[in-house]
Amino acid sequence: MHTLWLADIGADDLARVGGKAASLGELTGAGLPVPSAFVVSAGTYRSFIEDTGIETALFEAVDIDSDDSAALAGAAERAQELILETAVPANVREDVLAAYDELGDGAVAVRSSATAEDLPDASFAGQQDTYLNVERADLLDRVKECWASLFTQRAIYYRNEQGFAHDAVDIAVVVQEMVDAEKSGVLFTSHPSTGAPTAIVEAAWGLGEAVVSGTVSPDNYVLDRESAEVTDVTVAEKRVMCVRGEDGRTVERSVPDEKRDAQVLEESELRRLIELGDRVEAHYDCPQDVEWAMRDGELYLLQSRPITTIDDAEPAVGTGASADGGAMQSPPDEVRLSGIGSSPGKVSGTVRIVDKLDNLDKVEQGDIIVTEMTTPDMVPAMKRAAGIVTDQGGMTSHAAIVSRELGVPAVVGTDDATERLRDGQTVTINGEMGTVEVGEPESAASDDAGSGDGAAPVDASASGSTAPPTEQGHSPVKPMTGTEVKVNVSIPEAAERAAATGADGVGLLRIEHMILSTDKTPTRYVEDHGERAYVDEIVEGVRGVAEAFYPRPVRVRTLDAPSDEFRQLQGGEDEPAEHNPMLGYRGIRRSLDRPDEFELELRAFARLYELGYDNVELMLPLVTDAEDVLRAKSMMQAAGIDPDKRDWGVMIETPASALGIEELCETGIDFASFGTNDLTQYTLAVDRNNTNVADRFSELHPAVLELMGQVIGTCREHDVATSICGQAASKPEMVQFLVDEGVSSISANIDAVRDVQHEVKRVEQRLLLESVR
Ligand code: PEP
Ligand code: MG
Repeated sequence: MHTLWLADIGADDLARVGGKAASLGELTGAGLPVPSAFVVSAGTYRSFIEDTGIETALFEAVDIDSDDSAALAGAAERAQELILETAVPANVREDVLAAYDELGDGAVAVRSSATAEDLPDASFAGQQDTYLNVERADLLDRVKECWASLFTQRAIYYRNEQGFAHDAVDIAVVVQEMVDAEKSGVLFTSHPSTGAPTAIVEAAWGLGEAVVSGTVSPDNYVLDRESAEVTDVTVAEKRVMCVRGEDGRTVERSVPDEKRDAQVLEESELRRLIELGDRVEAHYDCPQDVEWAMRDGELYLLQSRPITTIDDAEPAVGTGASADGGAMQSPPDEVRLSGIGSSPGKVSGTVRIVDKLDNLDKVEQGDIIVTEMTTPDMVPAMKRAAGIVTDQGGMTSHAAIVSRELGVPAVVGTDDATERLRDGQTVTINGEMGTVEVGEPESAASDDAGSGDGAAPVDASASGSTAPPTEQGHSPVKPMTGTEVKVNVSIPEAAERAAATGADGVGLLRIEHMILSTDKTPTRYVEDHGERAYVDEIVEGVRGVAEAFYPRPVRVRTLDAPSDEFRQLQGGEDEPAEHNPMLGYRGIRRSLDRPDEFELELRAFARLYELGYDNVELMLPLVTDAEDVLRAKSMMQAAGIDPDKRDWGVMIETPASALGIEELCETGIDFASFGTNDLTQYTLAVDRNNTNVADRFSELHPAVLELMGQVIGTCREHDVATSICGQAASKPEMVQFLVDEGVSSISANIDAVRDVQHEVKRVEQRLLLESVR
């Protein structure tokens, strides 16, 4: 039998249906109001892998050393692919669809239920997989996705670590009638950290997802279990709610004005919830966290599981989110994540899990943003944040660049922070060492109040403000150096802070951040607002920086964003879908291919010159050929920019540009600036954003240094200035190499400027000494 009905399932069926389904079956049997459901049994999964002949390949694929992160990622990908790309046998298909038809014809929730979930601490499998609003046509695909969730990197890693055999865990799938909830939330039958007989209810409008994902801060009600008296009510401002959209998918909607500040639950409803909690707790004989929903005055029990955090330091209340999408889930006992420390400082604060579609208002002053990867529209929230943690990205990712400029400590590339951390938890992040720990260090906990903004700066370098970066043991006086030391700026908001470093100018101002922050592609922006507005957007962004630094030079780079970044914006659907955007349509290639848009950028430069910002310099990115540079140069002239009067140049980011530097010098450039992020990725064939090969990314690789040395030599012969504006400019070894070679300037991240100034001075003094000895 491939499917079983909840009403026929009890605790004894655990091996057949997994923990989640067994628990729902039991609750149904106990007469609790669980929405109807059937379960695709664990045996069905087992016979699927056996009968289709993928079993051997599947278990072989995950037989790896899970400490080898590349092997782990490959294993997860291969195993999931095997499951997802194998057709479900016809008899299974028929049985599942027949059960679906019997359930009704509405949308269903599809949830995984692994058979090892009853093992202590083993609730690892399939936790993340709940699909809501699934229609008949997608049902079997979603079931397969639940099966495949047995083979996420995390699940494979966990089983290996715990010594569970991969083939000893099976997975069942619950297919449950969707409750189109008008209100929903969570109930903790006892206080989740102290275990006190105090029930806590969280409630918001619409489907439970908004509460579960932390998108909305729910109302919070505290009740005395004994008397059922409501002892505390906090009504939150609920701006968004999740509802079922016309196409059946879950969508976010604004909460109508009259409901935003309205209390979600009446006292009688709270009492019914407490009654429900009493029954569930009595059934299981231990405190429970219960996910509930209400529709047409009916109360439904969607999920219940024991509260495991009692006596733990971290209560799951506050926002009470779960990555499960199903039951509220308690935070793991101890979480320590590591990633790349990409913006220095140690700070603790409250986790806010943010995804691309989230309402960013939920990020408050002093929170720690935890997200897959930051996007330009998150910048305002990043400014409020005390710290940033991402799953993806490296030292040159958006999160890393922007957080450094804002002076907000950040750890990027943790892989799974969004899965392992929970909304509302307190964490401490170390942006130097790249670590994230749950809880706050004792020293911070005791003087938390002093921070004033909800964040606890744990060390002095976690400024989170617009103050200039603190010095690290150096004198406050800016050292005089022959080699200029400049600063990189990507967001105009960082201009003042960057200028306060005493840098000799801006070595790289990336204008794409200005465009991306409008949330529209250049094409869409022009369509919607006109050419003039687009030019103004650039002029205003650059002007703020040029003003802050005047008369120090500001090197402004023309647009260089890979197409995948544009594709996320409004109008992104018209951008090319590229297999490898890093090797694709970006930089000068795109500009020359879209002369109308490029001309608008050039017009912005012309206007800045008209306005008197003669400190602005123009820099062309991702150059490979002198011919391209000459074409760009004639477009500059056509836009009214006289290349003989203005300083302009190119970035050296490709081996072709390094090897062709002689021809590039002959185009009339004033400077060549190393973009070592790209130069390294193209020289070593190491994708700069790919964590699997991150350990191979070295700007100090002899091949990269060889190219740079050659370029500096040739440029010196042609009287062309040289510079570096890639991330490596902040590394002392790179500074030593470049000053030795005779580079004209070095442009570092804001937080590194002072260190680089000192390093440059040290090397220059050594060179001087050597020359006179
Ligand atoms: C570089 O490639 O080193 C660089 C500075 O440009 P970006 O990081 O914007 O590609
Ligand atoms: Mg680059």
